[in-house]
This record gives sequence, C-alpha cells and structure tokens, in this order.
Amino acid sequence: MSVTVLVCGKMFDGFSEKLSGPTEILIEGNRIASIGRSVERPSGAKVIDLSDRTVSPGFIDTHVHLTMDAANLARQTLESSASKAFKGLSLSREYMSYGFTTLRDLGTADPEWPTIDLRNAINAGLVEGPRLIVAAHILSASAGHGDLRGFYNPRWGIHVSAIADDPGSIKALVRREHTFGGDWIKTSNTGGYFSAGDDPARVTWFDDEMEVLISTAHQLGMPVAVHTGAAEGCKQAIRFGARSLEHAYLIDSEGLQMATQAGSYVVPTMQMTQEDLHELRAGTLPCQAVWKFRRDKEKILASQKLLAASQVKIAYGTDCGMFPFSHGILEFQAMVNAGLNPIRALKAATGMAAELLSRDDLGVLAPGKLADIVAMPGDPIADISVTAEVDFVMKDGTVYRDSR
Ligand SMILES: [Zn+2]
Repeated sequence: MSVTVLVCGKMFDGFSEKLSGPTEILIEGNRIASIGRSVERPSGAKVIDLSDRTVSPGFIDTHVHLTMDAANLARQTLESSASKAFKGLSLSREYMSYGFTTLRDLGTADPEWPTIDLRNAINAGLVEGPRLIVAAHILSASAGHGDLRGFYNPRWGIHVSAIADDPGSIKALVRREHTFGGDWIKTSNTGGYFSAGDDPARVTWFDDEMEVLISTAHQLGMPVAVHTGAAEGCKQAIRFGARSLEHAYLIDSEGLQMATQAGSYVVPTMQMTQEDLHELRAGTLPCQAVWKFRRDKEKILASQKLLAASQVKIAYGTDCGMFPFSHGILEFQAMVNAGLNPIRALKAATGMAAELLSRDDLGVLAPGKLADIVAMPGDPIADISVTAEVDFVMKDGTVYRDSR
C-alpha cells in the first residue's frame, strides 16, 4: 500500500466557510488516513511539499457530455459507439488534468452505451480516467429537447433519440436505462436553446408523464436529473421529485423557494450561458438558437441573480461537450461573477456536488474519504480565478498531474 504525506500551505476541506492554514494530510492507499497541523510520517512515506499551494478536494463536474460534440453533432452520428468512447476517454483525461476527478455524464446521442462502457473500463482499471457517474441517454417526449430527429433528414434511420409519448413507453425507456447500467436518469421537460423545433419556455412532458418517469426511476433506485428552462418546467420537476434541475434557465423566486424546501439541487451552467451570449453578439449562433436567446437573455441573467441571492443548493456543472472542455473550469468565475461568494462556488464543486451524487466518500477532505485532492497557487477566496491554475491532481491516492 502506498503512503503519502501532503504538506499543504492552505486547505479548503469541501464544507467549511473558510480556508485553514498550514495542514498535513496522510494518505494510505486510496484514502485519507489523517489530517492535522502535523501528521505522523510512517517509514517509506512519500512526502510532497505543497506548502506554497492551496489544496481542495478534487473538483466534481455534475453536467458533462463526453461523447457529444455540439459543433459536429450531425457528423458525429456517423461515428461508432466505440469511437465516441475513445474520444470521450481522451476528453475525460484532459478534463481531469484541470482538477476534475469525478464527472457526471448526462447523456449521449448514440443508440448504444459508450459512456457506460467508458465508466466500466475506468472502474475496472483498464484505462486511467476520472470517476464517472452516468445517465446514458436523454429521455424526452417527441418534439422535446431530446428529440434530435429534427436535426437530420427524416429518412436518416439511426435512432439517436430516446423518445416516448405514453406511460408504458416511458416506463420501458427508464427500465432500459437501468438494464444497461445507467446510474441516473436524465430527461428534459422543456425545450432547449440549441435544439431545433422546440422552445425552452414550453413544458414538454405532461404531469402524468413526468410522474410516471420519475416514479419508475425511483422504483429502480435511480435519481433523476431534469434539463429544464421554463419556470413552470422547474416547478414540475421539483413537484415530482427531481433530484437536480439542470440549467433552470428561467427559474423564478417561487421555483427557488420550492427547490429550497424540497432539497432539490440546481446546476446552473452559467459559463455556457456566457459563451452562448458571446456567440449571439458575434453572430455565430445557429439560427434555431438565435430567436430564443434574443427573447430570453435578460430573463436568464435575472434568474441567475435570483439563484445567487437564494439559499438553494447549487452544484457545479458545465455542459462541457456543448462547448470546449478546456472552458469548464471557468464555471467558478462565472458563478462568482453572477453573485455567488467564492466559498459557495468551491462547495458547489466539492461537498455539495458529492451530496447531490449521494457520495459521502467524495468531495470532502477528512479521514476515511477517498484521496481525490487538487492544488492551486494563491488563494481562491481572494481570487477565484486561481481555480484555473490547478497544477497538482491526485485521484484515489495516485498523482495524475504534478506540473508545479
Ligand atoms: Zn447537457
């Protein structure tokens, strides 16, 4: 068993309101054995000097798409599931180098199961990569956000959408996701901004459809993440027991109150909105997204302000895949720019994200937890942008990056 001692300048533990000063962490195998001002140094222990760094639990991104390349979605349908899995592996490793040691992947546009295969290969130790938690496909009503048929010639026969329009078919889809190894169910209950032929301001599941989807998932022990936009969509998702609201673009104060009371998490993907609005100004958005963003841009930003002012549980998620993985680390800065304090942003990517995932072995630096630890120069409370300068990454007690 490997034994390592990290000598840390400052530490964010994933749940406290402030950083602690000089701290040492003893790691045995893949777990943290002890933490203190000084820890014992068993003979043979490797000592790593991070005394000029701030350490944090490994970051968790709860909303990525390792196998969806938004810029090439149509062409990508021609690729095999295996090709998508290999590219997803490469992206996941790149992303881990920025500090993300755990990812929740929220859906592929493939009839097969590339993200499940990728997760299994990493778990089995066949390949190295971040820990993956997977919702395999995006379950949707037809004409909803997950109905991709409108992107392609109607005679194109590859089934890249996971759509259903009656309770029996909805149950069958949820059960299929469980059969083939999904950890979570992902669905959309409103349209989206980039999808063709739908509207984020309109709800696309009826209440009885949402009810049957979530209750079937819960019967199988699967939590549900809901892509949602319209304020009514956010409320529908909360009413029927969604664990996380993805984007929640147009959530209002009543919805935030309901989410706070119900304990639902919100994953606001704020950096993506910044990038989309930049593209709107630059005139480079695809036409089906332009009218929606023109209409909604002020409302989205107003919702983000409400979110920052609320007590709702916010988890870090980016939607990388829809934009470059190299930009996912900028969500910290987008959150702080939207009004979150830096500690809340850091918690969103550590303790709070682990809580969303029901993983009490992750997201926190404490004895017994898995040794996922990153380090950055400077003080992220004073300047959140140092989160983009992570240069030390440990996952499961193994150092994957040390480029100090
Ligand atoms: Zn997404």
